[in-house]
Amino acid sequence: MASMDIVNVGKAYGSLTVIHGVSVEIPDGEFVVLVGPSGCGKSTLLRMVAGLEPITFGDIRIDGQVVNDLPPKDRDIAMVFQSYALYPHKTVAENMGFALKMRGEPKADIDDRVKKAAEILDLVPYLARYPRQLSGGQRQRVAMGRAIVRDPKVFLFDEPLSNLDAKLRVQMRAEIKELQRRLATTMIYVTHDQVEAMTMADRIVVLRDGRVEQIGSPLELYDKPANTFVAGFIGSPS
Ligand code: ADP
Ligand code: MG
Repeated sequence: MASMDIVNVGKAYGSLTVIHGVSVEIPDGEFVVLVGPSGCGKSTLLRMVAGLEPITFGDIRIDGQVVNDLPPKDRDIAMVFQSYALYPHKTVAENMGFALKMRGEPKADIDDRVKKAAEILDLVPYLARYPRQLSGGQRQRVAMGRAIVRDPKVFLFDEPLSNLDAKLRVQMRAEIKELQRRLATTMIYVTHDQVEAMTMADRIVVLRDGRVEQIGSPLELYDKPANTFVAGFIGSPS
């Protein structure tokens, strides 16, 4: 568990600035949703938080410590992507335990943590199966399981549900929310889907062209949108 501060963070690719000084303070255990149209910089921001992309300016702090120069593996952050890229020739259990195995952890510890994660995610009956034998929702849960076994301080999700059909998407939203309640871990969740943002977030950060338009609870954004962009995007009448 950890607080996460994004402090005036910017990103330029050559002469093109795509993130223009974004600041978001996230207290321990909060579920924050970054929402905005395609190309507004959501993935870039998340990748900078994860350490997968160097930041051009600003600071990323975890529990007050600046982590700008830490490689991803030392940040204690787990990321779940939309293309969940499970290893096809490994079982569910092996997929979930792989990162721990690579870290050289004892097999008994790995088995224990995989089992606990499988219980949380209702994957116990599927541990010996291969990814091709799973439904889309189950695969997505395995991808989350890979993150959970690492017991990270912060979870990052980049549009994890966008490959799923509408019905499953609604179900998985609820599952991810329940997971967050249960683990009480800080989570940053990226989506371009307003409904997903409104139904899942403790607080929403609305991004547009690499800038924050507004930060607030779903109700605050709906009741008091800062401008017509937010109002239009969130769907409130003003
Ligand atoms: P989102 O996830 O909100 O759709 P991205 O973070 O992927 O947006 O992209 C934000 C902007 O940065 C876009 O204009 C995109 O074209 C640009 N961009 C992303 N990655 C690169 C890159 N490696 N080189 C140059 N421009 C990039
Ligand atoms: Mg993206």
